[in-house]
Amino acid sequence: MAKIWVVLQLREGQVPRLSWEALAAGQKLASTLGGKAEAILLGSGLGPAGETVAKSDLGAVHVADHEALRGYTPGAYVGALAPAIQSEKPDYVVFPHSYQSVDYVPRLAQAVGAALITDATGFETTDGGDGGLIWKRPVLGGKLQARVRAKGDGPIFVSVQAGSYPADSVVKATSGDTGVKPLNVDLSAVKADREILGYEEVGGDQVDLTKADVIVAVGRGVGGADKMGPVQDLAKALGADIAASRPVIDNGWLPRDRQIGSSGQTVAPKLYIAAGISGAIQHLVGMKGSTVIVAINKDPGAPIFNVAHYGIVGDLHEILPALTEAVKAAKG
Ligand code: FAD
Repeated sequence: MAKIWVVLQLREGQVPRLSWEALAAGQKLASTLGGKAEAILLGSGLGPAGETVAKSDLGAVHVADHEALRGYTPGAYVGALAPAIQSEKPDYVVFPHSYQSVDYVPRLAQAVGAALITDATGFETTDGGDGGLIWKRPVLGGKLQARVRAKGDGPIFVSVQAGSYPADSVVKATSGDTGVKPLNVDLSAVKADREILGYEEVGGDQVDLTKADVIVAVGRGVGGADKMGPVQDLAKALGADIAASRPVIDNGWLPRDRQIGSSGQTVAPKLYIAAGISGAIQHLVGMKGSTVIVAINKDPGAPIFNVAHYGIVGDLHEILPALTEAVKAAKG
């Protein structure tokens, strides 16, 4: 039986998808090692978020509710979490892999002597008898997958890559809500180490692809802004939104709010059609949580086929029109 914590990241008091994904990873870990995962929330005025998370099948929801934690700062987060981890001694602490966790989790790991495995996509049990787990994480831009085992006596920290554990796989509590209680730590000395001057929404009127059910995404393989016709036709036939990999955006073939990936939007539609996209890790993290992925690429060795449920090897300029005709025919 292991003690497993999942530290959730909040966005304006709400629990975003990447936190549900981390919770799903924590529950999977708990079901493998025994016991129940416990959620940790940091912030100020955490009542509604705590109650939402408490509907999940967890051992407990702990909240560190303090004015100094109202906005994220690494000093306050480390100040609250380090003593709590030292006194409660969780075996594993799971985080979403995000810009925020990249900012403070290494500092937290150093403070408590934890091993840190970042950007994990999954784990497997070992039969070595030492109870250790082997974690999988991409290296070299996703061209290789490393298998890593944590060493040392301290807790093991794992940050989970977006899309690795579907948010909708979080197991709900069956008999009433999980209890919400304060995190067992003295927060009086916790201080923000940065002054947040404000938040500015970037492109608030931009397209929100996260709500799309069907996405037709296009990569550099499309060949130019003037060659988008077949992409638009298929998107229209399917009632889909159009998205793209970064080179398409950088080349100015589509506007920036269409970019999917680590520096774009993270989506999980029911259907994601990736045409002329190689499948670089920076793109995959933004879409591999999609329910069904169809990849079209003329290179049978393209990494996108590793995450695709259906793969079509060929020229997208021949395949997209054929798909459009098939969709139209199916719709009668
Ligand atoms: P390519 O890698 O050039 O692939 C084009 C593919 O099209 C190839 O597989 C080729 O076989 C295929 N093809 C060519 N012609 C045809 C045809 N006629 N029919 C069918 N297939 C064809 N990328 C993102 O997408 N999103 C991000 O958010 C992002 N963020 C990044 C952040 C950083 C810090 C860095 C360093 C990189 C980032 N990238 C991002 C870039 C990423 O590393 C890749 O370079 C990019 O995803 C590749 O885009 P692509 O697949 O469209 O192009």
